[in-house]
Formats: sequence, structure tokens, C-alpha cells
Amino acid sequence: MKKTYDFVVIGAGVFGAWIARSLHQAGEEVALVDAYGPGNSRSSSGGETRVIRMGYGPDELYARWAQQSLPLWEELELQVDSELLHRTGVLWLSNDTDEYSKSMLEVFRRNRVHYQQLDAAAIRQRYPELKFDDVTWGLLEPESGLLMARRAVRLLVFQLEKSGVPCIHAHTLSPEGAGELRDIKTAAGESISGGHFVFACGPWLPKVFPALLKDLIFPTRQEIFFLGPPPGDNSFRPPRMPVWLNHQHPQIPYALPEIEGHGYKIAFDQHGPVIDPDSEERVVSTESIARLRAFLGKHVPRLAKSPILETRVCQYENTWNGDFLIDQHPDFKNVWLVGGGSGHGFKHGPAIGAYVTDVVLRGAAPEKRFLLASKQTVQARAVY
Ligand SMILES: Cc1cc2nc3c(=O)[nH]c(=O)nc-3n(C[C@H](O)[C@H](O)[C@H](O)COP(=O)(O)OP(=O)(O)OC[C@H]3O[C@@H](n4cnc5c(N)ncnc54)[C@H](O)[C@@H]3O)c2cc1C
Repeated sequence: MKKTYDFVVIGAGVFGAWIARSLHQAGEEVALVDAYGPGNSRSSSGGETRVIRMGYGPDELYARWAQQSLPLWEELELQVDSELLHRTGVLWLSNDTDEYSKSMLEVFRRNRVHYQQLDAAAIRQRYPELKFDDVTWGLLEPESGLLMARRAVRLLVFQLEKSGVPCIHAHTLSPEGAGELRDIKTAAGESISGGHFVFACGPWLPKVFPALLKDLIFPTRQEIFFLGPPPGDNSFRPPRMPVWLNHQHPQIPYALPEIEGHGYKIAFDQHGPVIDPDSEERVVSTESIARLRAFLGKHVPRLAKSPILETRVCQYENTWNGDFLIDQHPDFKNVWLVGGGSGHGFKHGPAIGAYVTDVVLRGAAPEKRFLLASKQTVQARAVY
């Protein structure tokens, strides 16, 4: 007889994988399904590295979720016996008009997040590679850092498979009808049966549910560069170089130190054009390279002429303001939608897994900010 899982989780990115883990730990029979495989190069979780930071300006919800997630990443790291978390420190570059960073201080104090406040002279002295004339102070989160993203997702899914949660390689079709969904069909003509279905399809959510989500989640093209520091030079590696962000700069740059010889990662947090995650060519443009070189010449001059070792083109899956989408499908009582990571979701994987389990399995009250009803069609980013 055909197996019926308690939960079928569609999408083995960071959200789906942590949801599957949490449900499995709660004693549920779970199957994961992914069209391209966990941490694939089209997915938003398929990048080399992702920042984990506690700072969210005045926004306490995400600060707490990041705080809750950090030890769970560490727990996973021990279980899979592979380096997943580098506590390189995260440096916020700021200036006197920056209310966002000022409000972070209060949140950090209330939630006992360790931080150091640095003045401009201390920043210049500690981080001589960075040149930002208008930076007057900064905030260092010494215990934060970066996650080895693709590796973490793949190892998490392998671990789940070993403990009896299959990861089925299949492209599922959009569910039809209403009421209670009993199974989902795959493009290969098969079906997977379950009691509940969680669609954690990241940037594909608007393709899976076009009528509902095509105007509510915007997948935007984001380019990333890895630059090669000079030979034998440790200036761009930890401990001399932390992750840094400068959200006061119009290009919203951020950079991650060189890890595992992949180069110094730098990118801009501005939203690019809307793309299709299936068909987008993952090649950066010559205009973007020119913009990067101009930026480096001004702000990280020692890398201005360094070779680009690798590039990546990924996508954010933005909701209107950056808040996640976690809600029941309005037409199906046993279908859940989880996504809208909006360029900051990776670090929160463990907290999302726990939240979905609490809401779906234990009937916990949902957070209003995540509900479908709170989503709008305009783009007005408020969460960074
Ligand atoms: C360039 C870039 C930098 C970022 N930086 C950070 C950062 O520093 N810190 C941070 O916390 N976050 C960051 N993020 C955001 C974070 O990576 C994403 O929010 C997160 O990875 C989203 O995960 P997901 O599981 O929702 O989606 P995905 O990882 O995209 O997973 C969705 C999965 O669903 C599968 N799928 C889709 N449709 C179907 C279907 N019909 N059938 C079967 N499978 C299907 C796909 O194959 C895919 O594997 C960044 C994102 C990008 C692009």
C-alpha cells in the first residue's frame, strides 16, 4: 500500500530542511521533496556563505530569532561534524544620522547580545582596509559571523535522510481544488500522499501559487563577487577581517571575509530586477563589474585591481516589506506556505522550523506579521 506521510515538505532549501527536522524531532513522519536537490545552484540557499547577525535595527522579533537560531546551527555543526559556522564577528558601519543602528543598541542590551561600540579612530585602526570617510562609529557583534550555507543545507538533509526522512527528487505540480489536499502530483506522473503539505518553495512560490502569490513575492536578481587577495596576505581573512555591512551607503554594500580560499565576498543589498529562478542565466554583467571596481577603488582600494575569482547570481524572494510569509493556504486547510526570506532568511532556518512546528502541530498563535493578510503588492522594504 502507498505510504501516507504525516507531512510532505516541498522545497529542501534552508526553510524546508529545518521545518522537516523540527517536525521529525516532534515525532512526525516527514518526506522532503525538491525539484533540483538540496542547496542547488538555482535556490536561494545554494550560495557559499550567508551572514548570521543579531542586528535588525529596532526590530526585536528577528533579533530574537537570530539569537535563538545561532546555538541550533552550532548543534547541527557538532552533529554533522563539519565546519558550518565561523564566528568572524559582524561589524556595522554607521554614522551620526543612523537611527537604525542606534536603536539596535537598545535591543542588544535588552536581549543580552554582546556588542562593542567603536569610534571612527578605532575602526580605522582595527580595519585599515576599509575606507569610509563618513563613518563616525560602528557596532561589532563579536559572536556573530557567517554560515557555510550550501554545505549546511546539504548536510542537514543528508542527516535527515539517515534518520528516515526521504528527500524525493521530483518537481511537484501546483495543487488543484480546495478543502483538504490528499496528495500532490509530480511532473513525472507520480503522486505523494500526506496529511499536511508545507510549501517552502522560496522564489518559486509565486510560480506554484500564481493566483495567490504572483503579486506578493518578488524574486529579484542579486549578484555576488569573490575577489582574490594578494598571496600570503591575511588582511582579508578572520580574525583581521570580520563580516561588515554599511546600510547607510546608497549601494548598501556588505562583505564577508575570505573563508576556505574562495576569495573575499562582496555584494550590494539593493534589489535587482525581477527574475524567473528556473531560467535566469547566472552570469554577472560587465556593468556590474565596472560598478564593483569603482566601489572598491573608493572603499576597499587594496582590492580594486584584484582578480575576480568567482561570481554568483542568486535571487532574493522579497515580500513587500521583508517580513516572512508563514500561513495556511486560504483554500486548503492542510496546506501551509512558508517563504519570503527577502534576502535575510537563511540565518533563521532553525527558528522557522520551530515556529512552523509550534503553529501547525501545537496550535500556537501565529505572528501577525507573517500572515498572508499582512502582505501587500507594493514594494516598501522595512526589514533589512
Ligand atoms: C545573494 C543572497 C545573499 C543572501 N544573504 C543572506 C545573508 O547573508 N544572511 C541571511 O540570513 N540570508 C541571506 N539571504 C537570504 C537567504 O539565503 C534566503 O532567504 C533563504 O535561503 C531562502 O530559503 P528557502 O528555503 O525559502 O528557499 P530556497 O533555498 O530557494 O529553497 C526552495 C527550494 O524549493 C525547491 N522547489 C521550488 N519549487 C518546487 C517544486 N514545484 N517542486 C519541488 N521543489 C521545488 C527548489 O528547488 C529549492 O531547492 C541571501 C540571499 C541571497 C540570494
